[in-house]
Amino acid sequence: MEEMKKLKSIIKHQTNKIDMLTEQITKLIGKFAQFEDKSCKQSKSIETVVTELKKDVISNNLTYANIVTGSKVGEKKTARNNDPVVIVKPREVQESDKTKNDIKKSIDLSKLGAGVLGIKEVSKGQVVIRCGDKEDMDKIKSKIEEEMSRDYEITSPTLKRPEIKIIGINQDDNDTDEGLIEAIIHQNLSSQIKEENGFHLKIIKRLKTKNETQFTLILESDPNTHRMLLNKNKIFVGWSRGKAYDYVYVNRCYKCLGFNHIAKDCRNSKACSKCSLDHEGECKTKQNKCTNCKNAIEKYKIKIKDNHSAYDPNCPCYLRILNSARRRVDYSQDQ
Ligand SMILES: [Zn+2]
Ligand SMILES: [Zn+2]
Ligand SMILES: [Zn+2]
Repeated sequence: MEEMKKLKSIIKHQTNKIDMLTEQITKLIGKFAQFEDKSCKQSKSIETVVTELKKDVISNNLTYANIVTGSKVGEKKTARNNDPVVIVKPREVQESDKTKNDIKKSIDLSKLGAGVLGIKEVSKGQVVIRCGDKEDMDKIKSKIEEEMSRDYEITSPTLKRPEIKIIGINQDDNDTDEGLIEAIIHQNLSSQIKEENGFHLKIIKRLKTKNETQFTLILESDPNTHRMLLNKNKIFVGWSRGKAYDYVYVNRCYKCLGFNHIAKDCRNSKACSKCSLDHEGECKTKQNKCTNCKNAIEKYKIKIKDNHSAYDPNCPCYLRILNSARRRVDYSQDQ
């Protein structure tokens, strides 16, 4: 009898153990499901990154579709990335805190009658002052130069002039630079525009197109003229009528397909735009892999997709470069 009792108690004990184990297993299964859910969420976060990138682009007054096709600047006030800035850099090494205090001591904004959108401490003791507009920037800059140039270097990076691309002009209408500029002014703008303050319109280059009877024209202009031409959308040039886009130059290496350098200076291996590998001859891959996104994933452990061609206009790496190039362009409205 004693034995039976013992056996029963052992069985009871073991049953409890089994119950506990079952409970734990159920919990683990739950956790695993959560984990799966999380990895789903992570791929969601890739989409978020891309969406953020797109938002970035759109905040510069461009619709995403336009960016992709070569774009058109909208009507709204351009993004803050284009605000004029003054950079104050100490000649001797010091904390940017001190630079900031020196600036605040030496200029009285209310006396100066100028507005500041932000003042930011950056590396190497430097301070960046984001100004309300160009006029304010000029006032602030000259005052700081007057008061502080003994100990500080004062600069304001100049933004590039915007460029415009006109596609679909017939070769028959090709002309000298002067002839083309005159045609664009007289057929689309007004003859008086040349007298206006800050007017600028210059041919940068002519590009060949697949259709040999036509060519593409790249022009540089002041922000105002740029906007007027883009708003016209279709531009008359002689007997042709071309289509106008905002043109932002992105420097891409044709060897490794990376950005901001040229093949002559490239130290990377050659990359195929379709499969990302270094090979001769035609690419036979069935699955695209973008070399830039692949490298970015490896290097920065970021969650983006790389299953597209390196020339895909939606490539997150390309969009990032394009966006930063746009930040260096003066699209200002106050001319
Ligand atoms: Zn390269
Ligand atoms: Zn390939
Ligand atoms: Zn890519």
